[in-house]
Amino acid sequence: MKSAANICILGLLLCAALPAQAEWVRRVTDGIMGTRITVELWAEDPARGEQAIDAVLDEMRHIDETMSTYKPTSEVSRVNDKAADGPMHISKELFDLLVTSKQYSEITEGAFDITYASVGYMYDFRRRVRPNETQIAKALPAVNYRHVLLDPEKQTVQFSQKGVRIDLGGIAKGYSVDRGIDVLKGLGYTRAFVGAGGDSRIIGDRFGKPWIVGIRDPRKGEGNVIARIPLVDAAISTSGDYERFFDEGGVRYHHIIDPHTGHSASKVRSATVIGPYATRTDGLSKTAFVLGPEAAMEIYNRLDDIDAIIVKLDGTIVKSKDMQKAAPEPPH
Ligand code: ADP
Ligand code: MG
Repeated sequence: MKSAANICILGLLLCAALPAQAEWVRRVTDGIMGTRITVELWAEDPARGEQAIDAVLDEMRHIDETMSTYKPTSEVSRVNDKAADGPMHISKELFDLLVTSKQYSEITEGAFDITYASVGYMYDFRRRVRPNETQIAKALPAVNYRHVLLDPEKQTVQFSQKGVRIDLGGIAKGYSVDRGIDVLKGLGYTRAFVGAGGDSRIIGDRFGKPWIVGIRDPRKGEGNVIARIPLVDAAISTSGDYERFFDEGGVRYHHIIDPHTGHSASKVRSATVIGPYATRTDGLSKTAFVLGPEAAMEIYNRLDDIDAIIVKLDGTIVKSKDMQKAAPEPPH
């Protein structure tokens, strides 16, 4: 394809009169939600494509501002400060995501639980800090999604007891990916990829070919993949014990917490969930760590719109029932 610059050799006036050349526009940005954001889209007009990417990133920054527990002024931080004192009015957006989060707690038999943070806030994986058994035992009764009381009429949240904290780190990235896709769809884009860390969603195909998303080998560096998944109009989330962790005394402490024990949930090495929305795949991808591969696969296989690939502790791979039937991926 001729680049715009080549065409511009013909002269500035002519260049201005020429229609923009359609092309793939891609941008990778670090620093929103503490993760890497990738947006790629097919743009009839690349300059407008760049503006569309700006709009996606603005939306993600807004979600980060609202939902991050790293920001003391965020709405979620204010909820953590005040919601044990009584019902607290919150934005519709946060209210709806809290409702969704509780639904994933129910679907995953309590494995996904945003109140994990009542214990989870005492871990700092970068600084190799973890709570001791006494601290965990004291905080653990506050971990239970049923402590989060939501009143849809008044749009309020209340914690049923002191010590409850929430953290949306297990669903906000998937949610932001879905919102980013909504922004692009609203602007008329029909072929695009939006990814935030381990959560991605795709609309459309690559002109007759699927998008290919790699699943990283959990025990090898970035770029080493155990599978390449061809996807069209789908979301995919991978959770791994290699994302944020430290090893101590032969134990790996990492960022997915078992709500029943307050310890790192270590029953698998990684879990990948494929489905229609990134909020959904993100809400489901932590389940295997907490419940183990068999119980998690039972849940995934019960959900008609969900596929999954789990890397077990011994390094073997298990796939959900529809993926076992799937044709081998095309060579590339
Ligand atoms: P990423 O942050 O790369 O998308 P995951 O989707 O695996 O990774 O989510 C991990 C995050 O989920 C943790 O950093 C933490 O914020 C949150 N989390 C940890 N344990 C749970 C849990 N049991 N239920 C819900 N969220 C959790
Ligand atoms: Mg995620």
